[in-house]
Amino acid sequence: SPAATPITATLFPGDGIGPEIAESVKQVFRAAEVPIVWEEHYVGTEIDPRTESFLTWESLESVRRNKVGLKGPMATPIGKGHRSLNLTLRKELNLYANVRPCYSLPGYKTRYDDVNLITIRENTEGEYSGLEHQVVRGVVESLKIITRQASLRVAEYAFHYAKAHGRERVSAIHKANIMQKTDGLFLKCCREVAEKYPEIKYEEVVIDNCCMMLVKNPALFDVLVMPNLYGDIISDLCAGLIGGLGLTPSCNIGEGGIALAEAVHGSAPDIAGKNMANPTALLLSAVTMLRHLELHDKADRIQNAILKTIAEGKYRTADLGGKSSTTDFTKAICDHL
Ligand code: NAD
Repeated sequence: SPAATPITATLFPGDGIGPEIAESVKQVFRAAEVPIVWEEHYVGTEIDPRTESFLTWESLESVRRNKVGLKGPMATPIGKGHRSLNLTLRKELNLYANVRPCYSLPGYKTRYDDVNLITIRENTEGEYSGLEHQVVRGVVESLKIITRQASLRVAEYAFHYAKAHGRERVSAIHKANIMQKTDGLFLKCCREVAEKYPEIKYEEVVIDNCCMMLVKNPALFDVLVMPNLYGDIISDLCAGLIGGLGLTPSCNIGEGGIALAEAVHGSAPDIAGKNMANPTALLLSAVTMLRHLELHDKADRIQNAILKTIAEGKYRTADLGGKSSTTDFTKAICDHL
């Protein structure tokens, strides 16, 4: 309603194609009259000693304060003495779960028409704990860390998500037959949480079998939850099922209810500044942000306008085989609102 109090959200336009696709989100949100005021923050040009990275302290404070934000792709500058931008965000905001909705886009033909699943990836530990060393020459060791705390936290989020979104089933993906202690603990935590949600079906699927099933029939899955490395791989596999990185949204969930939505793709330096980028992934990420804020009417309207535009096929960007510029495609979406 016009009386709705505006919500302030942080916006990181990011690098490369980031500013172009962020502009597209701003336009579509204006056209759909979404009650959001953006607080924009760019990546700084020098290292902020308080964050040890090119991200400013103020930009992180903005996300902490607003608890909701949208992030374009960021390219970490090369050089020593600073932390990667994405790693800084993950650590500073404690972004513990990466959520990727993955559904077939009607009208954009891929091998499958009926993909409708969500991958939820533990994002803070596992194989990506960054603990690697050389034992002796020719022998290296990497530590996979699984904790009860982080496993319960991500499992809790997966079941909460399933319930809140009317989903029926959560599948825990693992390799506990080999990784008995680590994946074993992960599964144990998932089982504990599953008991609190008797209305949601719970199953455990071994990662290799999961890959085969996903490729043969993705409709077999609903919500999938898994440790870090498996999540990294499976979520990209699922992006491939629906047409690739230009179409796939994601949202990071952090401590204290923070939600930072972001496209899955990078800054695409090869097409940056050419008005060629496909804004769909960032737009659909912005839609997940609206759903997090329970602005479902606005989310539905924008999502439908995007899907209609792609299905019509008149305006499509080059990555989807079309000839439209970012701005023409964006205008077509606005016209469909
Ligand atoms: P990339 O995703 O930027 O590009 C891969 C290919 O996909 C390129 O050909 C690109 O043109 C195309 N592409 C990507 N997004 C597109 C879009 N929206 N529309 C049309 N085409 C699109 O991957 P990369 O080249 O490996 O990485 C480039 C930079 O981005 C690197 O500096 C990397 O570190 C960074 N990166 C950032 C994130 C992030 O911020 N989350 C994620 C991945 C990569």
